[in-house]
Amino acid sequence: MDGELVDWEDAKIHVLTHSLHYGTGVFEGIRAYETTSGPAVFRLREHIARLLRSAHILAMETPYGAEQLCEAVRATVRASGLQACYIRPLIYLGYGEMGLNPLLSPVNVSIAVWPWGAYLGDAGMEKGIRLKVSSWARHDSRSMPTAAKATGMYINSSLAKVEAVRAGYDEALMMTTDGYCSEGTGENIFLVRDGVILTPPNSAVGALEGITSASVITLARDLGYEVSEQLLRRPDLYVADEVFLTGTAAEVVPVGSVDDRVVGTGEPGPVTRKIQSAYFAAVRGETARYESWLDRVG
Ligand code: PMP
Repeated sequence: MDGELVDWEDAKIHVLTHSLHYGTGVFEGIRAYETTSGPAVFRLREHIARLLRSAHILAMETPYGAEQLCEAVRATVRASGLQACYIRPLIYLGYGEMGLNPLLSPVNVSIAVWPWGAYLGDAGMEKGIRLKVSSWARHDSRSMPTAAKATGMYINSSLAKVEAVRAGYDEALMMTTDGYCSEGTGENIFLVRDGVILTPPNSAVGALEGITSASVITLARDLGYEVSEQLLRRPDLYVADEVFLTGTAAEVVPVGSVDDRVVGTGEPGPVTRKIQSAYFAAVRGETARYESWLDRVG
C-alpha cells in the first residue's frame, strides 16, 4: 500500500475514502501462474498500461510510473510466496476532501495478491457455463468511459450478475442499447460459426478491450483459425457452433447454453478446447513463442 508491504489483516483504509463513496477508483485483474522457473505474471506490462490509461481517463495523477508499478507487482507476488495467484492493483482517491470534486483527494495505490481458482467454477471450465442475456444494457460511452476499468463502472456488471445468478445462471451477457452483444460482467465473448471465430469490436460495443481477448485472437490466428471482429446480435449466439468467454479471472470458459438454448452439442467444442489448451500452455510458460508475455517474478 503506497509503497509499503502490509500484512493482510492490516490492509485497511478510512471509511471516508473518496472512491468508496463515488466509485472513483481504477483497477486491474492480473494473474501469475506457476512455471518451471517460478511464478510468472501474464502480460504485466499490458495490464499496467491499461491501469494507467484508466487513471488518465478519470483525471487521476498516479504517483508512480509503469516501471515502478510493474516492479511493485513482482515484489508483492514474491513477498507472498505464492506460486500462482490473482493480482489486484487499485488506484483510488483516499481520505481527503469529501464532495464530488475528485481533484482535492490524495491518490493512493494498493496491490493485493491471493490464490484464486477457476472464477466460474471447475465444473463450468470443464463442461461449460449457463449464460443469460441480461435485461441490463451495457454502459453507453456517451455516459460512461467504457474504456476505463473503473470501480464505479462495475455497478452495471454487478446488477447483471445478481440478476443472472438469482435466476440460476452462471453468468450474464450484456447487450448494447442498440441490441448488439457487448460483454459478460467480467469477460469478453467469442463465438464459432462454420470454423470461423467471431468476436465483437470491443470498443464499439462499450466492452473492455480485454487482454485475454487480444491474447486469444493471437493464439487462434497462430493456430490457423480465421478470426473476425464483427457486430453480433442475440440470435447469433443461439445458432453458434461454439461460444466461449475470456477474461483474466475467468480465463477461457466454454458456454454450454445461452438463454437455455444448448450451444452446439452442449459439450465444449473442438475450437474452444484447442484455444483453452493453447492459452493454459502459454500462461504456464510451455510455449516458447509466447515467452515475451511472461514476467518472471524471480
Ligand atoms: N470485460 C470486463 C467488464 C472485465 O471486467 C474484464 C476483466 N478485466 C474483461 C472484459 C476481460 O478483460 P481481461 O481479459 O483484460 O481480463
